[in-house]
Amino acid sequence: MRPFSQAYRATEVADAAGGVDVLVVGMGATGAGVALDAASRGLSVAVIDKGDLASGTSSKSSKLVHGGLRYLENYEFSLVREGVLERQQLMRLAPHLVRPMDFVYPVWPDTARRRLLGLGLTTYDVFAGLRNVRRHERIDAAEAIALAPALAGSGLDYGYVYGDCATDDARLVLAVVQTARAFGALALTYTSADKLLVGRDGAVHGAVVTDGLTGATYEIPARHVVNATGVWVDRLLTQVEAGREPMVVPSKGVHLVVDAPRLPLESASVLLPSRAGDGRSMFAIPWGRQTILGTTDTEYHGGLDEISLDQADLDYVLRAGNDVFGASLVEGDVVGAWAGARPLLKGGGAMSDLSRRHTMIASPGGLVTITGGKLTTYRRMAADVVDLLVARDGRHVECRTADIPLGGTGRAYDAVLADVLAGCLALGLTEEVGATLTRQQGELAADVLSLVAADRSLGAELSPAAPHVAAEVVQAARHEGAATLDDVFSRRMRLSLRSRDAGLPAAEQAARLIAAETGRDDAWVAGEVARYAAAVAAERGVLATTVAA
Ligand SMILES: Cc1cc2nc3c(=O)[nH]c(=O)nc-3n(C[C@H](O)[C@H](O)[C@H](O)COP(=O)(O)OP(=O)(O)OC[C@H]3O[C@@H](n4cnc5c(N)ncnc54)[C@H](O)[C@@H]3O)c2cc1C
Repeated sequence: MRPFSQAYRATEVADAAGGVDVLVVGMGATGAGVALDAASRGLSVAVIDKGDLASGTSSKSSKLVHGGLRYLENYEFSLVREGVLERQQLMRLAPHLVRPMDFVYPVWPDTARRRLLGLGLTTYDVFAGLRNVRRHERIDAAEAIALAPALAGSGLDYGYVYGDCATDDARLVLAVVQTARAFGALALTYTSADKLLVGRDGAVHGAVVTDGLTGATYEIPARHVVNATGVWVDRLLTQVEAGREPMVVPSKGVHLVVDAPRLPLESASVLLPSRAGDGRSMFAIPWGRQTILGTTDTEYHGGLDEISLDQADLDYVLRAGNDVFGASLVEGDVVGAWAGARPLLKGGGAMSDLSRRHTMIASPGGLVTITGGKLTTYRRMAADVVDLLVARDGRHVECRTADIPLGGTGRAYDAVLADVLAGCLALGLTEEVGATLTRQQGELAADVLSLVAADRSLGAELSPAAPHVAAEVVQAARHEGAATLDDVFSRRMRLSLRSRDAGLPAAEQAARLIAAETGRDDAWVAGEVARYAAAVAAERGVLATTVAA
């Protein structure tokens, strides 16, 4: 297999232009899942994205792999059950990326429907059968505060603790893409599908694409084309169904990041039922040296490529967090933020009531569109699509992805962690570096340690905001398909989200490492730092980026 590096882009482009069985447009969780499912059932596949992999909604989620406890309130039992079962599968397939986490459900004297909470949590446990991450328990206020010290000033009555999973959304997509590549799939980032190729008979047989890195336009012929473009699906869909009503209502969700001491959570996340009476709930999630607070859920009418944090979002999340925790967070406490748009399916009701179900549409001419759903359910969505494609081909091949480990061989997490920590000790790297590397890269962390062993300067940490070393930049450019500094800092390491300086002090050093791997020159390095700063500013909206003098 070719390394997943932009250094091999020209060869990969030539292969794609030669034609494939399946062209998947969109490299978020859904498109990556379709690529893996199709490639593992023996189809030749090219998966493309107009930006980096996971550059759409799949890097902007709450980073949970879950059934969605709160959907029980809308009686969406089958949806919740599907999510819980997928969570159990993904824990098995990617034990490094899908990690169990305790969640505290706080109960105050004024909490409504408190008698129903235990029932809801029992239902959640039952859906997972005997394999739940943990069974829920009622805990007293002191126990809840021990798990989540930020609750200390909130006037808590008691709480429940239940189990779910946390992940790194963009890295989960990366692991799925890397696994699809191991089955022969071609993966081209910065490649947009501009126009579907439609024959005289009306059949869709590929797409005209533009290479965003070179500006070249070429065709990728394909027997099947899958539209997995998330909130953008209507753009391709209307090319074959002119005048069709949009199927997606984008719902905006923002998250804020604060330094952990400002909102301390020992080991557990907190589900925050709204105290503002608007029925929205939020999460506070421990995230290394930081805490995540979010999210909002508001109908979005702006440009899908320009979604960013605005002042109303910032004020809402801070106020909601302060109300629940009795905290005094202010704008100056916010060190990072992101904004994304959920591809919700059109229907009546408030945003927070719109279903997280997915839907698949087979258009005249054969284009298959898949959207809605959740990060958690990407594998099920992909299976629906590929079942249809193989049926069209008259073949009977079952979906195999329930048995394909993601980004490794499926070796037990604790064994991998022990090896990585031993390797870090030998190389003078901290345990925190080792633990983070293992969670993000699993078995492939060994490759990063080999880089440090060969060149000790690559063991240098890049930022006080998170324990990442320079070798990870090399790994991202050499084996993780990264083309830009934004790809590395925003979606391979998530440094852009963890500090006000977005990792800019290390930007030039990192850009040089990427340039050396991908054959770029000094002029590219100089421009890349400015391009990265602009990308961060566009995403952060009202939140300024500040670099200490
Ligand atoms: C705030 C928020 C919180 C969430 N939290 C969770 C959570 O905790 N757990 C969970 O399970 N789910 C969560 N979700 C839902 C989940 O993130 C999405 O359902 C999922 O990521 C959608 O993936 P996708 O691949 O369908 O879309 P996307 O990730 O958006 O991928 C579509 C891709 O298509 C590309 N594209 C578009 N047009 C073209 C074109 N013409 N040519 C080439 N490429 C194109 C885009 O660049 C994009 O990368 C959350 C969503 C939001 C917004």
